[in-house]
Amino acid sequence: MKTEGGGQDHQLTVALRVRPVSDAELEQGATLIAHRVDNNMVVLMDPQEDPDDILRANRSREKQYVFDYSFDGRSSQEEVYAHTTRPLIESVIEGFNATVFAYGATGAGKTYTMLGTDHEPGVMARSLNDLFEGMYRTSENMVYQVSMSYLEIYNEMIRDLLSPESGYLELREDTKGVQVAGLSEVNAKSTKEVMELLQQGNKQRTQEPTKANKTSSRSHAVLQVTVKQRSRVRNTTQEVRVGKLYMIDLAGSERAAQTQNRGKRMKEGAHINRSLLALGNCINALCEKGPKAYVNYRDSKLTRLLKDALGGNCKTVMIAHISPASTSFDESRNTLLYADRAKNI
Ligand code: ADP
Ligand code: MG
Repeated sequence: MKTEGGGQDHQLTVALRVRPVSDAELEQGATLIAHRVDNNMVVLMDPQEDPDDILRANRSREKQYVFDYSFDGRSSQEEVYAHTTRPLIESVIEGFNATVFAYGATGAGKTYTMLGTDHEPGVMARSLNDLFEGMYRTSENMVYQVSMSYLEIYNEMIRDLLSPESGYLELREDTKGVQVAGLSEVNAKSTKEVMELLQQGNKQRTQEPTKANKTSSRSHAVLQVTVKQRSRVRNTTQEVRVGKLYMIDLAGSERAAQTQNRGKRMKEGAHINRSLLALGNCINALCEKGPKAYVNYRDSKLTRLLKDALGGNCKTVMIAHISPASTSFDESRNTLLYADRAKNI
């Protein structure tokens, strides 16, 4: 989707990935209720409705959702990357900002898409790899510097995942834009090195057991990659171009009430819902009215941090994730509705 506003262009791509069913789900007797129909469409069937009810056409139990791209259990990491994030890399090298979000309930496949495994690296490592290659191709004329930082937002507090001992960090806004004070920035040179840093950083993420999932992620993990470049030709007016790519593994979107959590967990749930809601509202406002529109970023740390990335001339990709299992129907429906709303016709 493209919105023109005052000569600026905001582009949003919304993709949906249905992960393969897990052994645990099959052992619970789950049936498959979500599947991809074609490159764009996903259908979700309501398992509650009686399949033998002959008054209802079978079709009415199924809801169709259409996205820019849809992926299923057979889609490779490369396919997902190529249709969502690869198109952003060139513009980051040119000095623009871009953001990729992984959205979905805990266990739906967000971290698999973003981080992946050593054998099947995800969007984060593939992006950096392409950035390195793109830079290498033009390195005769340009000097590049790529640096990265990796942080988490947990309960509206920011922690440096590459330097966890630094404690909680403050978000500051000055003439240079939004900054996280004291956040470490690491110069990255190779994909392998980056993958190691990310795996290490991920181990530092706040993961605490809930009734929904033993290792549910209650935090947003934000990888920020900065590409600085200048021409090798020396002259006094040489400019430095800076492009930023944000890749974000969002906290699980399941509702606090659904996980029957109390106390501390409940509060986390409220924070998570608030930031995901704020994020949806910002994306909506930007796509509806263009970058000059009034957008309220102040409702959460996540949207405040991303203010520069989301506003202005930039590209945004949302990859929403669902399980195909009947046991996840409510969460899958909520995710499809959120992604559908972000897409906004
Ligand atoms: P989330 O980060 O949304 O909580 P994960 O990415 O950790 O979910 O995925 C949950 C489980 O499912 C993990 O064991 C992961 O390896 C597996 N999984 C998720 N997506 C895929 C996929 N597309 N292909 C294979 N396994 C997947
Ligand atoms: Mg995860």
